[in-house]
Amino acid sequence: MKVCDLCEGQSTKSRNSKPHENLIKVDEARIFKGKNPRGFEEQDYLCMECESKFTQSTDKNDLPWTLWRG
Ligand SMILES: [Zn+2]
Repeated sequence: MKVCDLCEGQSTKSRNSKPHENLIKVDEARIFKGKNPRGFEEQDYLCMECESKFTQSTDKNDLPWTLWRG
């Protein structure tokens, strides 16, 4: 399925931005405690419009919004 405009926009958004209106949370946030003592979180989202999947990460070394393209 084609990625909708909202998802295309979301993939370029900053770390602090909110998920767009058609994104719903999938499962609970995953908390990583690795080398960084403060750890970071990942949260999966699914778009109800185009069924794209996103992962939002608070890891500074990762993309804030990763769009998983089929
Ligand atoms: Zn979408």
